Order: sequence, then C-alpha cells, then structure tokens
Amino acid sequence: MARIVVVGAGVGGLATAARLAATGHQVTVFERAEAVGGKLGRYVHHTPAGSFHFDTGPSLLTLPEVFHDLFEATGAKLDEYLDLTPVDPIVRHVFPGDGPTLDSCADPTEFAARIGAAFGDRAAADWQRLWRRATRVWDASHSAVLRRAVDSPLDLAALAWRLGDLAAIGPGRTLRGLGRQYLSDPRLRMLLDRYATYTGADPRRAPAALVAVPYAELTFGGWYLRGGLGTLADALLTRCLDLGVVVHTDATVTRIDAAGGRVHGVRLAGVAAPVPADVVVANVDALTVYRDLLPSPRRLAALTDRSLAGFVLLLGVAGETGLAHHNVFFPRDYDAEFDAVFGRPGRGVRARPATDPTVFVTVAADPAVRPAGHEAWFVLVNAPRHGTATGAVDWRRPGLAEAYADRVLDVLAARGVDVRDRLVFREARTPADLDAATGAPGGAIYGTAGGLLRPANRGPAAGLWLVGGSAHPGGGLPMVTLSAQIVADEIGPAWE
Ligand SMILES: Cc1cc2nc3c(=O)[nH]c(=O)nc-3n(C[C@H](O)[C@H](O)[C@H](O)COP(=O)(O)OP(=O)(O)OC[C@H]3O[C@@H](n4cnc5c(N)ncnc54)[C@H](O)[C@@H]3O)c2cc1C
Repeated sequence: MARIVVVGAGVGGLATAARLAATGHQVTVFERAEAVGGKLGRYVHHTPAGSFHFDTGPSLLTLPEVFHDLFEATGAKLDEYLDLTPVDPIVRHVFPGDGPTLDSCADPTEFAARIGAAFGDRAAADWQRLWRRATRVWDASHSAVLRRAVDSPLDLAALAWRLGDLAAIGPGRTLRGLGRQYLSDPRLRMLLDRYATYTGADPRRAPAALVAVPYAELTFGGWYLRGGLGTLADALLTRCLDLGVVVHTDATVTRIDAAGGRVHGVRLAGVAAPVPADVVVANVDALTVYRDLLPSPRRLAALTDRSLAGFVLLLGVAGETGLAHHNVFFPRDYDAEFDAVFGRPGRGVRARPATDPTVFVTVAADPAVRPAGHEAWFVLVNAPRHGTATGAVDWRRPGLAEAYADRVLDVLAARGVDVRDRLVFREARTPADLDAATGAPGGAIYGTAGGLLRPANRGPAAGLWLVGGSAHPGGGLPMVTLSAQIVADEIGPAWE
C-alpha cells in the first residue's frame, strides 16, 4: 500500500483517487478551493421568482462508457449515483442567413438524412464519405492513444498502426484541410471546424485526427445529467469518501518535494510540517506543476499549444424561448473569430475578443434548475486566454467584461434570439475568473489544445504523475477520466 497524495479535486483528481483507493492505496486529496469539481463548477442565483442553477463549465457529457467503467472499477454502478439523460438534438446548429438549421443526433444514418433534408443530397453524401474516414480514425486511435500512456514522440511512433490507419489519421494534415477535402457545403465545414474548438484548438492548426471527436459524439451520444452536470462532482466525491479517501478542501499545495529525483510528499500553504507521500498525482495544470510546484522550475517539453479560453454569461430569462438544449449560432466569418481568439503572435497581431463570435447557448429543460416560467441560460463564447502576452487579453481591464456581455447579447439578438428585455439577471465570467477559481493558467478551458502528443502522465520525478485536461490524453470530461484510468493503471494496485 502506498501513501498517495492527489493535488486538486477536479474530475481527473477525484477519479484517480477513487480508482487508487479501490485498489487498496491510502489516498489523500488536497483541493485549494472550498468545493470539489474544479472546472466542473456550479452556481446558484436566488431571486424572488425562485432559484436558477447553473453549470459554469461542462454542459455536455460524451462517451458515457468511460464513466460507467469508472464507477464499475470502484465497485459501484453509475446509475445509482447519476441520472444520465440523452440529449436529442445533441446540438441545434444555426447558420448565418435565413437558411435551415441542422440538428445533430447520435444516429449516423439519421444525421445524414437530416443533412440531406437541410442542405441537399450532395452534402449528405459528402458527410457519409467523411464519416467513413472518421470511423477509420476512431478505430485506429481510441484504444491505442486514448487508453494508454503516451510519454514521447517515440511512443507514438511505436504504436502498431497499420499503414492504412496512418493514412486515415493523416499525420501533418489539419482538420480544416480534411473539411476542405470532403465537404463542399460551407456550413458543414463550419460544423466540422467547430469540433476543434471543443479541444481548445484552432481548426486551421488542429490535426485531422480530431475528426474522432465528432465521431465519438455522434456515435455514442451527448448526455445531460439531471440536476446538472455538477452532480458528477458530487457522485465522485461520495465514491471517494465511501472508499476511505480523505479529502481536504481549502488546502493549497505550494510545493511538491522531489529532492534526488523522486517525490517525498507535498507542502501546504500555512502548514509548516510537510505531508509525506510515496506517490503524488497532480491534477493541477501541467504548466503549473513544471513551473511552480517542483523545487526547480522545468521546461515542459511537449509540443503543445495552450487551449483557448471562454467568456461565459449566466442569464436568468423570463418566459420560455423554445430553444433546444444546446444551440450553436455561427457567424458569417468564422476565420475572423479564430484570428481574434488566437491572435497571430508570430506576426505581432494581438488576440482580442471576437466582435462577431459563434455563440453557444445551453438551456436545460430540467425543472430542477430553474423556476417555473423561466429559463437558466448558460452562454459560452470562445475567447482569448487571460494575460498580457500577444496571444492573450487582460480580462481584468475595467469595463471590458460588461461591455463584452452587451456585445454578445447584441450578437444573439442579431441572430434572431433577443432576450435583452427579458433578463431577470445576468452575470459574466471571464477567463480571468476561471483562472482565479480553478488555477487554470489564463483560464484555458482544456489546458493544452488538441493534438496527439501532450504532456505525459509520467512526471519528471519518480512517483510523480500528471492527470487531467492538460496532460495525456487531453481535456473534456471523458478524456480526463481516461487519464485517471491510465495513471491508476500505471501506479498499479496496492497488492502488486
Ligand atoms: C466553460 C467550460 C465549458 C466546458 N464544456 C465542456 C463540455 O461541454 N464537455 C466536456 O466534456 N468538457 C467541457 N469542459 C472541459 C472540462 O470541464 C475539463 O476538461 C475538466 O473538467 C477538467 O478536469 P481536470 O481533472 O483537468 O481538473 P480541473 O477541473 O482543472 O481541476 C483542477 C483542480 O485543481 C485545483 N488546484 C489547482 N491548483 C491547486 C493547488 N496548488 N493545490 C490544490 N489544488 C489545486 C483546482 O482548484 C481544481 O479544483 C468545459 C470547461 C469549461 C471551463
């Protein structure tokens, strides 16, 4: 049995803690915030009409098998803890102009039929050809890359990919390039581009292998958790406590002791005595681990970009609007948005909030999260990270958040959804707020942006492991849960 310290109680940290405790280890979690969950945050706004409950982070759960596996591995059934509800449409896509909308769903044949009905037979045939390619990419990558440790470019190269697999994955190609090759309808290209942003990336730079993301969503479905996605954090905490994990909140780790190339424990803010440990699992962003928590700062070797951030509006809306659960309102010029959000640091072009951004609106039809006759809207716009570098924006600049909130509501109104006169309240959350709340550097949603090679799960000292969105295999709830599985498997059970 090892004494294991987990730094951070995000989904990755809690999932690792539960798995390790279930295999006999003595596990203690230190979380700097007053509640667990990390980016899977929640907020309740009370009004005379009643309470509005918001998920401030994830609104869509994909790859449910990953969560079933997690609960099973810890000796429980997911259904005893969570109420998984399929969402159909998964997303309603609203394109510029007065043309038809497109509802995505978890049935490839039905989705192709919907594409045909909206955009014509050629568009449907294009999508089916892309889908065949996506199937090959998924088959070649999901067990090879997503379920095992990939520590270096050599590990990637050593994967037993057949030539056909490599041709499908298309190393060196971008997701944008794949869209150009397969899709003639610009609206379908936009839809495909959008999936790069679900990994924090610019589709013009993101690898074509990310076509596995829509494959996973549109094959295994998009899910809501009744009561809000935050119930996942409750369930993981309960699971941890039932398995004997000790969870301390309001406990900030300031250092990982790693003299002589192996971990000895951690230091806590305001506590003189070190906390000894045989193994440390860091759920903190990899950048923070390497730069701030190790005794001497190290360079993070992986060839990765930082993920984009998000500007969030939480709205109490009077009346019912008839929107779908998830709605994406696309702009006329998608590339102008990417230029704004990522900037062009190489050419000295600063990042800035996009003036005409894609707007993502989530409205859960769940009476548990809103007063009768009202809707609780979660509005998300991709945004530059917080900071002072060329590729970031100083979101603390006085007036910026409120001015941008006005702008986003104006954009929505221009796209046919005007709720400006129906707001019971509104609150903005900037990338700077996410950074402050969860320690995510710059408020990056996904840590590192989409790519096959990210910071490895194996840390730079013996006994140090990295888990969560900034490490392999990446961000998003299923990926961080898979990273927990990889790390727990690598550490192994106490009885080995
Ligand atoms: C706005 C938004 C929308 C999103 N939408 C989706 C979605 O629809 N679907 C989806 O699957 N994913 C989505 N995501 C991504 C998803 O939320 C994350 O990938 C995932 O929750 C990250 O989990 P993690 O394990 O990496 O840890 P994090 O959530 O990053 O948690 C890390 C934890 O470590 C703690 N910590 C930091 N420093 C210290 C320290 N020094 N000492 C102790 N504790 C520390 C933090 O407080 C935090 O609790 C979204 C994220 C955001 C922000």
